Amino acid sequence: DHYLAAENRYAHMKYARLGRSGLLLPRISLGLWHNFGGVDRLETGRKILRTSFDLGITHFDLANNYGPPPGSAEENFGRVLASDFRPYRDELIIATKAGYDMWEGPYGNFGSRKYLIASLDQSLKRMGLDYVDIFYHHRPDPETPLEETMRALDHIVRSGRALYVGISNYKPEQTRQASHILKSLGTPFVIHQPSYSMFNRWIEEGLLEALRDEGIGSIVFSPLAQGMLTDKYLKGIPEDSRAARAHFLRPEHISEKRLEQIFQLNQFAKERGQTLAQVALAWVLRHSEVTSALIGASRPEQVTDAVGALDNLTFTAEELQTIEGILQQ
Ligand code: NDP
Repeated sequence: DHYLAAENRYAHMKYARLGRSGLLLPRISLGLWHNFGGVDRLETGRKILRTSFDLGITHFDLANNYGPPPGSAEENFGRVLASDFRPYRDELIIATKAGYDMWEGPYGNFGSRKYLIASLDQSLKRMGLDYVDIFYHHRPDPETPLEETMRALDHIVRSGRALYVGISNYKPEQTRQASHILKSLGTPFVIHQPSYSMFNRWIEEGLLEALRDEGIGSIVFSPLAQGMLTDKYLKGIPEDSRAARAHFLRPEHISEKRLEQIFQLNQFAKERGQTLAQVALAWVLRHSEVTSALIGASRPEQVTDAVGALDNLTFTAEELQTIEGILQQ
């Protein structure tokens, strides 16, 4: 079954600029951390990717280690790219990363020049690409000099392997330092990828400010707190959920206190005329430094639900107060 992208794919999606760069990202992007591995059904992944692109989601986020097994999400994405998305390559922003454990021995993780360049070459092969649009250093390395890691990112751009670079999980001060090095090298450093949701607000303490000062945009991961900020866990833990698989999200994360907050947030969402997922996404997107919300999905309907958030991205001061009240409990 041959894929033809929806003709109206740009009718609904909104796009925003990454900091002071030329690159626009969709306000909702799709990540392939879960549900696209060798253990998952490729046909489901294909449907999720098709639905996403048909809704104007032009950005797909990967990493060397996504699977399981590690590397298999890139391989599967490469398959769907070859069969479905080849004609649309120039309409896509494809990102990958290196930083976490990938292969045995001293060169398969963290932040050395050796690891970053070898890893990206592997990623390009797995995806069948000549270059990625964004390459990230996935987590800070406490031992490798920052200068070495940043010079590796610079080399990656100059050698044509990536168009832009980013960092992920870097703290505010590390972000400022990285930015200064990359600016001095003339590297197109445009994006930070931190976690952020109603249940995880660390970026409000210094990171957003650093991004504003440096003119860098951001894409925030796990904006739905891995599914907790949806209606999915209101009636217990469904068998086909991430928490039931206890793969990163665990049943014990959904505590009594969390569940009470989720109930109240869900009630608030109903009164506002949105789903809880939509409120959670609009809420992270309320900061101008947050360019895109990076969701995951186990089925196409979740992507459609997420994109529905764009119908109402604004909050009154009173609404924000109500949410604050629930989150402070
Ligand atoms: P989310 O917080 O969006 O959680 C996604 C999960 O929530 C889905 O897989 C699904 O789980 C559930 N869900 C999503 N939408 C709905 C809905 N409408 N109704 C009910 N349930 C829903 O993000 P992720 O944690 O998946 O992370 C997103 C992406 O961020 C990753 O794919 C990856 O690209 C990136 N990331 C980056 C990290 C980094 O270190 N840089 C770390 C983690 C993620 P279910 O299976 O239960 O249906």
